Amino acid sequence: MRSAKRLDGIELSLIRQINALATPFSVNLGIGEPNLEPDETLRDMARRAATTSWRYSPNAGSLPLRKRLGDAFGVDPKSEICVTAGTEEGLYAIFQAYVGEGDEVLVPDPGFVSYATLARLCGATVRTYELEPPSWTLDALNITDKTKLIVVNSPSNPLGAVLDEEALDAIAATGCLVVADEIYRELWYDAPPPSMLGRGANVLVVGGMSKSHGMTGLRLGWILGSAELMAPIVTAHQYIATCASVFSQALTEAIFADAEWNTQWLERVRAQFRTQREAALYAIRRELEAEIEPPAGAFYAFVPVPLCGTVDFAKALATDAAVLVIPGAAFGKRGEGFVRISFAANVEEIGTGIERIGRYLRGSGR
Ligand code: PMP
Repeated sequence: MRSAKRLDGIELSLIRQINALATPFSVNLGIGEPNLEPDETLRDMARRAATTSWRYSPNAGSLPLRKRLGDAFGVDPKSEICVTAGTEEGLYAIFQAYVGEGDEVLVPDPGFVSYATLARLCGATVRTYELEPPSWTLDALNITDKTKLIVVNSPSNPLGAVLDEEALDAIAATGCLVVADEIYRELWYDAPPPSMLGRGANVLVVGGMSKSHGMTGLRLGWILGSAELMAPIVTAHQYIATCASVFSQALTEAIFADAEWNTQWLERVRAQFRTQREAALYAIRRELEAEIEPPAGAFYAFVPVPLCGTVDFAKALATDAAVLVIPGAAFGKRGEGFVRISFAANVEEIGTGIERIGRYLRGSGR
């Protein structure tokens, strides 16, 4: 059976392809999910969440959860929130609601793989705006009169970089529909990253529990934005997911209800990632002789390597050096020459993995 035309040229991401080369001996620094384990309080909350109703919630999410999110983000729970099955579904619903043939979608390069694919699935043309090393700042936006939607991701996957207030304001001021993917907003090192929220009636912010609470498999995300922008999104979301898992919604409600525990949890999470970031930066300097600007958020280091063809390099590392990293090219043209090293791993794995990359590079005569 021939698959639909809209899937032509779309394949499983390079990230999946590299991860498929893992063996039991591999050190995996290719992962995009946090190495967090629930503590006893979080497990207790989950046990209690499992005893609440298993029936559908309203499409936009259960009202008690939306009230908690409304308080946390300063938006109207009745009309300005849609709870989704992870951020990924939220992005999909937004694209389905707003993007069609003839539209142009502007995505960051380097940037998260999904954005361009979601645009192509809707028949849109993808254009990119470039982020400039070493601090991955925004240079110029390539807006045209067909630009419908701009995606912003701060802190960024794969860069760990954060956009400043000025850059966010400039993007909001374009008047295009702005989708800010703030899934990493709680994972910062020196100061909380500025948010896109509240910078204009044209702004939608997506976020969720995957990265901050290690809840990747529980599929809980949200979209925040004006009532007018939200209505078509809730309609699209109804036909994609009906509603997010009510178990995950009840658990998230409990987490937001216990503000004191949640604050402490997030501080512990940041402390853990701070240690892992130091381990990664130390090994990158020592083993790869690369100086990079410390990532300001998320858990990725985007590291230049002295080779062309980083896709082959990452594949060779996976098969010959038993370490997984993601080639920068997976994130766009501008990513070529770099690899994404995830430090969502314990410090021993980080040290061993980066040492293996260094040894492989020295062995290959570079
Ligand atoms: N956006 C970015 C930038 C991500 O890195 C990821 C996960 N890798 C997602 C969205 C998807 O997250 P979720 O689990 O909430 O669907």
